[in-house]
Amino acid sequence: MAYDSSQIDAFKNVWVFCEQRQGKMMPTTFELISEGRKLADELGCNLYGILLGDDVDDLASELGGYGADGVYVYNSPLLKNYTTDGYTKVISEAVQEFRPEVMLFGASNIGRDLAPRCAARLHTGLCADCTHLDIDLDGYINFLRSGSSLDVDNMKFDTKLFDVNTNLKMTRPAFGGHLMATIVCPRFRPAMATVRPGVMQKRPYDEAGAANVEIMHPDFELVAADIETEVLDIVKAAKKMVDLIGADVIVSVGRGIAKDVEGGIALATELAELLGGVVGSSRACVDAGWISADHQVGQTGKTVHPRIYVALGISGAIQHKAGMQDSECIIAINKNETAPIFEIADYGITGDLFKVVPLLIDSIKAAKE
Ligand code: FAD
Repeated sequence: MAYDSSQIDAFKNVWVFCEQRQGKMMPTTFELISEGRKLADELGCNLYGILLGDDVDDLASELGGYGADGVYVYNSPLLKNYTTDGYTKVISEAVQEFRPEVMLFGASNIGRDLAPRCAARLHTGLCADCTHLDIDLDGYINFLRSGSSLDVDNMKFDTKLFDVNTNLKMTRPAFGGHLMATIVCPRFRPAMATVRPGVMQKRPYDEAGAANVEIMHPDFELVAADIETEVLDIVKAAKKMVDLIGADVIVSVGRGIAKDVEGGIALATELAELLGGVVGSSRACVDAGWISADHQVGQTGKTVHPRIYVALGISGAIQHKAGMQDSECIIAINKNETAPIFEIADYGITGDLFKVVPLLIDSIKAAKE
């Protein structure tokens, strides 16, 4: 059958674009594979990774450890470095051949470049920068309930058994973060989404899954003339970026450090180091030029869910909360007892951070001795 993205019954399975750079898998890929597993289980279908690169088979089995049933691997010296043209061509042709119904990309610089190109070429819809994904099974479950005695609440079913459509529900912040919009792509497949790094939880690694993953090498054609750009050199930023997403503990500073910016950042750094964590920030501090943008937590910064998040002099604007409210334990220090950050804090201290944080540091040091 000729490829037609509106023939939605012809599409099945969940795919994740597995982003590797210089032979190293990007951590977001494991988050997406974990989330893809959940979606595939709800849909009653398989989860496949699609991995492009040069000689990257070794990276594929690890994906099984996070829940992939199989990985389509496309090896070519022309795919060693990312190019929009090369990757778009290979992925678009793979989708036309195998027809997944859902396709996820990380909202990294590469994912944000690649996913819209693929969506346009495949004539389907894409929802960018999602923070939550779900399958809309309501219509399907109602259909099964009507006229059958099946125990639908407890059954694992194949949603392709009956002619009832299921949609991917893609949720993302809209209107400056003031509301969350849930978007579906009901008339075309695959339903494509880019997903913010750090939002989805990685599953525990499963050795058996890694051992059983099916690695496939479909035929494909890619020649140098397909790629209009040439990567001459890859220069890594000399500056060490802070790893907010992988951090267990984050101590973030806000505009509350204004009266002594250097002193405030030094206190946050000392507290973070004592707790084995890193320093984050609200956008106010980034906009003021007090700290670099890689520290920013929030809607236009990073989404984090560390074990402990300490907010120093941060009011708790909705755009900041969007990036940190799923932290396991939130500790807020703010001199204004009505600051919104206290609404989501597990522990709140009303007071001047320049007085409270030194006391905290001293007591942690004393407890460690
Ligand atoms: P403020 O809101 O000014 O709060 C400062 C707090 O410090 C106050 O609560 C005050 O009581 C307290 N304080 C002052 N002095 C002390 C002291 N000595 N000790 C203790 N407490 C003290 N913001 C983000 O953080 N991340 C984002 O990604 C982000 N994205 C945005 C996207 C859009 C489209 C928009 C419109 C805004 C975005 N913002 C973002 C900005 C956001 O709306 C807020 O302006 C910002 O989060 C405020 O930062 P703040 O809490 O540090 O500053």
